[in-house]
Amino acid sequence: MTIDQGRRVRVERHRFLRYAVACPFCGTTVGPRFVTREHLDVPPNPPYAATVRCPKCREEFEVLFSDAP
Ligand SMILES: [Zn+2]
Repeated sequence: MTIDQGRRVRVERHRFLRYAVACPFCGTTVGPRFVTREHLDVPPNPPYAATVRCPKCREEFEVLFSDAP
């Protein structure tokens, strides 16, 4: 599926790894176990983004790591 801008959140990667990122639709905190796809195509420190499906509202959105290159 195509991810539009409204489905993007930009966070620091360590916050995502600590489940400190809220779903933009319902506010449930999400983290690595809800990733459906990692984006590995930008070196040298992949992944720079991940697609996440919220476990509560089932919305899918993209998490961009703001500290990625
Ligand atoms: Zn949600």
